[in-house]
Amino acid sequence: MRKIQMVDLQAQFEEIQLELSGAFDQILSNTAFINGPDVQAFKTELSDYLGGVQVVPCANGTDALQIAMMALGLKAGDKVLAPSFTYVATAEVAALLGMELVFCDVDPHTFNICPESAAAILEKEDIKAIVPVHLFGQSANMDAVMALAKQYGCVVIEDMAQAIGSFYQGDSATGFAGAIGHAAGTSFFPSKNLGCYGDGGAVLTPDADLAARMQMIANHGQSALYYHDVVGVNSRLDTLQAAVLRIKLRRLLEYTRARQHAAGSYDAMLGGIEGLHIPVRDPKSTHVFHQYTLTLSRPGRTDLMKFLESQGIPVKIYYPVPLHLQKAYNHQGYTAGAFPVSEHLCDHVLSLPMHTHLQADQLEFIADRVRTWFASH
Ligand SMILES: *Cc1c(COP(=O)(O)O)cnc(C)c1O
Repeated sequence: MRKIQMVDLQAQFEEIQLELSGAFDQILSNTAFINGPDVQAFKTELSDYLGGVQVVPCANGTDALQIAMMALGLKAGDKVLAPSFTYVATAEVAALLGMELVFCDVDPHTFNICPESAAAILEKEDIKAIVPVHLFGQSANMDAVMALAKQYGCVVIEDMAQAIGSFYQGDSATGFAGAIGHAAGTSFFPSKNLGCYGDGGAVLTPDADLAARMQMIANHGQSALYYHDVVGVNSRLDTLQAAVLRIKLRRLLEYTRARQHAAGSYDAMLGGIEGLHIPVRDPKSTHVFHQYTLTLSRPGRTDLMKFLESQGIPVKIYYPVPLHLQKAYNHQGYTAGAFPVSEHLCDHVLSLPMHTHLQADQLEFIADRVRTWFASH
């Protein structure tokens, strides 16, 4: 059996190695390292893949969220609402822009923003923007998020770093993750569903004027060479990374199916174990399984982790501490109990290996070891 890894990028690399060498040779010899033809081509190809949404490539997913906020005119003092159970990037850019981050809780089944918790906060506070995160590969409840945004006059910035290709078929909101809100940020970090070989990201929006503003902000606020109309940043996707992404984008559907297939195998082998919950599918969203995340409804997570690791099975906790209890983001003085679902998940979730090249024998071995632990504890 091949060594089990949380994310196995090697197997994927071997399949596309020749294509990559060809693309790299060309870029290395024509030396168009910044803004070469692959960047423009990738921009068009990703836009086509996601149903025509405008794409502005940038340096990473964190920058993408920052550029989206700047382009939407959010400014110091504005309040931004985000779920507490997520990755830190959203909180970070809001803080760097001098905005005030306000948290809400998540849904215990989908792990995504809880509309009731969000509504309670929107009712009390003057929120300018909502950032739903499509966590682990499944779209947030965009019917509810868009309705709340309309009701309270907020803009919506989707964090789709973990959900590229996920499609949401709601009652009032429909589209690919990242194409429903006013703007979205995504990441091409190597382990993401569409990952490059370094850092990369993109800002998305259905609005062409907003896309033009994002493009300007990402390039030093420049309207024409050396004419700077607004304060911007330097955030570029380089040509080598764009070339990797073009090659992988052609296989993204196949990669997504491989992840869904692995998730289906885990489900079949791990469903029905007492004290263990397999990931819940939101019927309105396809799940692209950036992570396959279990929830324990009994104690023993640390022991289970140690056992699996001793068997050569890497596992991870995404995420161990909710944002409202992180030292850097606890300016509002939140205490334990403020967002009980987020806190409960941080103490009870466990993610199993998930990538595009998990083999049947690996999946069986992992599931067998998990079952063994539950049978003896
Ligand atoms: C990875 C990730 C980001 C940030 O992307 P980087 O490219 O690492 O800056 C933002 N949000 C979420 C939910 C992520 O998973």
